[in-house]
Amino acid sequence: MVEELAYIPAWRSDETLYSWISGFHAVHGNGSARDTGALLFDSEHACRDRDAPRNLHHFASVTRAALGDVRSLLLTRTPIGLFAPFLSASRQQALTEQMKSPTGPGWRLLCGMPASGLHDTGAMHYCEDCVANDVATWGLPRWRLPHQLPGSWVCLDHGRELRSLRTEASQWILPPIDRSTAPLPALEPAQAEALKRIATLASKLVGSDTLDVSAIRQAILVGLRDHGVTTWLHPLDNDHLSAWFAGSPISEWLRRSNGPWQRLASGDWIHDLLRNRVGDHPLKWMILWCTLFADQDCSASQRRFMDPVSSPHWDASGQATIWGASPPSLPSDIHDIIANATTLKEAADILGIAVTTLRRRLTELGTNPRAFRQDASFEQRKQRAVDAIREYISAHPTCSRADIHRECKAAVCWIRSNAPEAFEHAVESMGDQRSRQMTLARDVQL
Ligand SMILES: [Zn+2]
Repeated sequence: MVEELAYIPAWRSDETLYSWISGFHAVHGNGSARDTGALLFDSEHACRDRDAPRNLHHFASVTRAALGDVRSLLLTRTPIGLFAPFLSASRQQALTEQMKSPTGPGWRLLCGMPASGLHDTGAMHYCEDCVANDVATWGLPRWRLPHQLPGSWVCLDHGRELRSLRTEASQWILPPIDRSTAPLPALEPAQAEALKRIATLASKLVGSDTLDVSAIRQAILVGLRDHGVTTWLHPLDNDHLSAWFAGSPISEWLRRSNGPWQRLASGDWIHDLLRNRVGDHPLKWMILWCTLFADQDCSASQRRFMDPVSSPHWDASGQATIWGASPPSLPSDIHDIIANATTLKEAADILGIAVTTLRRRLTELGTNPRAFRQDASFEQRKQRAVDAIREYISAHPTCSRADIHRECKAAVCWIRSNAPEAFEHAVESMGDQRSRQMTLARDVQL
């Protein structure tokens, strides 16, 4: 039988679940972190899961769901709320299933957080100004959810860089009130702006609907081209992408930061992020999006991240396209070169690239090179074949079909194997009634 709490303190604004418990422990607990863990989560070690303790069922029962049910606790009071929208349907399903069970893998594992190596499990983050305000308001500081999210490195209320508290102690901890530590170096305006954008996006994503990660990827691919970071002949080149990112304010900040995200400073992760078909850590998508679209209106750009079809995107040539709906397609001049060339090798020679490169580029655009050439050049080739036959007929009004088969061998061969129905179309100018009744002779000796 679960023992319900006699008194359930309300949430202190946007604090995390962990923060609520630490506050509860400080004010109403008996001083033992283990007892508080056992009381609230039926686990003496609950305080070690600083992101999201496992047995949320127990907590929801003890608190009579006055603070929310399992789903709302997890998705609006823990950083899991930012990860969930990025999860694939199957992982979302696993997360929902896990919500029904008091045991099983932890939330972090379900979200793939440990595998990313980008998660700083030992650290919690706070803003000194917020702490001072909290102490004045509630007598106790709190851990604000927006400050614990991946990508949240500044306080949006105070513009301050967040401080980190790293500890492995098995305690319910609150942010330190002591302000005697050396002040953090001031942020350069461009870096501050970049950090603000990412933190804003992070806080908006908590509890949002499922994201269309492939549409986000497509929008980024289009954006990279619009910004001239990639060109059609040099798409997704690791060195180009890294060099572009390394020159951004966020890269500069990451380089001097202290945390596992420091390794993102070089930008050498972008190539893999965009090439892989599977999802990756939310932090990477957020950083890349905010860096690429830094020149756009912040809230419009972030609305597009969350719903790529919500607003049209004006591309470089002034065309309104829906984000994500337009794959990075082939420029028309290059399209024509490939369509008109006799072979892919010939097209590659004209473009001055290796045929393997051309094949790879087409594959990157989501098309099989053979299928592409067939689609792109089919109508043109059919027309050329039909024209060749018609020209022969007009130059030889009395010719027979056997003559056509013999003299227009290439055109007939092509039509026979690709568009047999076009043959009658090609020979309709022949006046000879007898000829018209003949069918395309498949067994004619050529
Ligand atoms: Zn603050």
